Amino acid sequence: DQEEEEEPSENLQPRPPVVVVMGHVDHGKTTLLDAVRKTNVAEREKGGITQHIGASVVELPDGRKITFLDTPGHEAFISLRARGAQVTDIAVLVVAADDGVMPQTVEAINHARAFNVPIIVAVNKIDKPGADPQRVRRELSELGLIPEEWGGDTIFVDVSAKTGQNIDQLLEYILLLADLLELKADPTKRAKGTIIESKLDKQKGVVATVLVQEGTLYVGDIFVAGTTYGRVRAMTDDKGRRLKSAGPSTPVEVLGFEDLPMAGDTFKVVPDEKTARQIAEARRLQKEQLEKVSRGL
Ligand code: GDP
Repeated sequence: DQEEEEEPSENLQPRPPVVVVMGHVDHGKTTLLDAVRKTNVAEREKGGITQHIGASVVELPDGRKITFLDTPGHEAFISLRARGAQVTDIAVLVVAADDGVMPQTVEAINHARAFNVPIIVAVNKIDKPGADPQRVRRELSELGLIPEEWGGDTIFVDVSAKTGQNIDQLLEYILLLADLLELKADPTKRAKGTIIESKLDKQKGVVATVLVQEGTLYVGDIFVAGTTYGRVRAMTDDKGRRLKSAGPSTPVEVLGFEDLPMAGDTFKVVPDEKTARQIAEARRLQKEQLEKVSRGL
């Protein structure tokens, strides 16, 4: 079966963590993502040209990288996960220090736990006069997230997304946790990943963002994505730069799809176009069968 063949991973190498930012509405998820992107070396050098492709890579001065999913909140996370895609390694739980634990904070914790994604807590808005970061620690402890400084194993970082205070520290802790998780992938394999965004562009046609999770994706590669397939015609990163190749944990906007894939679809490179077409067609038939069955036909 063409769907089964699996190359062995012999060349595992560390890869950047893929991070989602979650938390209650207005607790500062969007602002935090903006603050994080501002620390980006490449972006500062290029004068801040960002493309929205659904994820961004933050590069620290020492060259280490973190990939952030751009859609704050857990909608993206949930919809990707509901479709079986495992894309996130770490969840940053944002809790406003002047508001404390709220319903969506609890929801976010439950989702991260259900999917076994470790949590780092960013206690945000510590610049505000009413901020009470200790209260956030007490409230989260009651939910089982015990701060390291109290003998637990959850990292808490007090930050201000608005002033940028401690954002670099938060990034350091994310990388520390990533080291503990020993995130690895084999960059020498054929690429595999997940579609994290897709759209039909008037000029460009089908445009989709692939998060490469295994192997390296090259321009010219032939791929299957969900029930569609294609050949990589061009790739662009989150800074709008043209790429010839993209390794593990890199999100890239890809041109060359035959049809629109869906967020959460798996993506994999196959040896030739015939194989790609066959797999896509088989999946399409299977999907149609399933839909018929579920409609009781
Ligand atoms: P989201 O709904 O979680 O994405 O929250 P936003 O990022 O949109 O932030 C909600 C509001 O809180 C906005 O008015 C932000 O300017 C403000 N805000 C976010 N972070 C901070 C912070 O660290 N300090 C202060 N004072 N305000 C913040």
